[in-house]
Amino acid sequence: MTALAEAPAPDTSVPSPDEWEAAVGAVRALPQDAQVLLVCHVNPDGDALGSMLGVALGLRRLGFHNLQATFPGAGSPPVVPEPFRWLPGLDLLVPAAAVFPAPDVLLCFDAASASRLGDLVDRLDTAGAAIVLDHHASNTRFGGIHLVDPGAAATSVVAEGLLARLGVALDPEIAECLYVALATDTGSFRFDMTTPAVHEMAARLIAAGISPGEISRRVFDTRPFGAVRLYGDVLQRAQLEPEAAGGVGLVWTYATLDDLARYGQQPYVLEPLIDSVRIAAEADVSCVVKQVGEAEWAVSMRSKGAVDVSRVAVALGGGGHRLAAGFTGRGSVGDVVASIRAQLAA
Ligand code: 5GP
Ligand code: MN
Repeated sequence: MTALAEAPAPDTSVPSPDEWEAAVGAVRALPQDAQVLLVCHVNPDGDALGSMLGVALGLRRLGFHNLQATFPGAGSPPVVPEPFRWLPGLDLLVPAAAVFPAPDVLLCFDAASASRLGDLVDRLDTAGAAIVLDHHASNTRFGGIHLVDPGAAATSVVAEGLLARLGVALDPEIAECLYVALATDTGSFRFDMTTPAVHEMAARLIAAGISPGEISRRVFDTRPFGAVRLYGDVLQRAQLEPEAAGGVGLVWTYATLDDLARYGQQPYVLEPLIDSVRIAAEADVSCVVKQVGEAEWAVSMRSKGAVDVSRVAVALGGGGHRLAAGFTGRGSVGDVVASIRAQLAA
């Protein structure tokens, strides 16, 4: 055998064994009354909430009893979007203003950059250790311990890996949280990253005793009637620009705070709209521009493959994945769409 053959193969697994060991070691080193803070990104989606609450429930099972879970802007009481209001572990949520000033450990979920933690960003420095669980290729590697797997379909894939290494078996409550996260980020197992490993994980979660049909109905298929009417207005004003993005086409629409008020709806009901807009066969790129303030817009972008929309989003101050990304735009709807058009042409 040559010396070369005896040398250990370079370890390219992500997270690396050292990173897993650092994370597991940081948790195992804590006394059971340690202050543990779990935080996910602002405007949490199913992956952010599900991953955070799944790990929180797992830590509770390990005997930790000083647990807090939160997200930037979480009020008193913290309000999560209606489709997630039944998630197990919501009792662990605390208002952002009430979180430990200097927790023994911070666990951060589904945030690609520190800015996604809003006012809670300082806890990265005040915490005894900061463990970042994420799956964005654009992750900036903030925080001390990185459990970041850009190949993972959801942050909950990383969360399941951490729980397994901590010796926490899946129970139905943890499985529900992780399943919501996995189903959300894979578009109900439709997107490209729906690998055999994703279905194997889903199988483990279902085997833990959950009801996928019931979960899907609650998370994806239940909205107020006012939202149905609102969708009509927003889809009616969609614009198709076949020449945009170098000829692969752009389809876009927008929703204002006035639209929400007219139908008495909350911003979360706008999230599924991008899925209806992106079906337009004539466009590779789709966008929904959602008003969040006087001159502030949350933009969702999707691509069918010809365009890397994370490049566009990063250039405009946001982030995300190649086929799904977003950013916060300023000015009028016209200004925001013009900035997207310009980046798509770049
Ligand atoms: P969505 O359109 O579903 O809100 O987001 C799609 C993807 O883009 C998600 O992975 C999300 O993390 C990312 N994303 C959306 N908005 C922003 C943003 O304002 N900043 C950053 N960094 N990423 C965003
Ligand atoms: Mn995610």
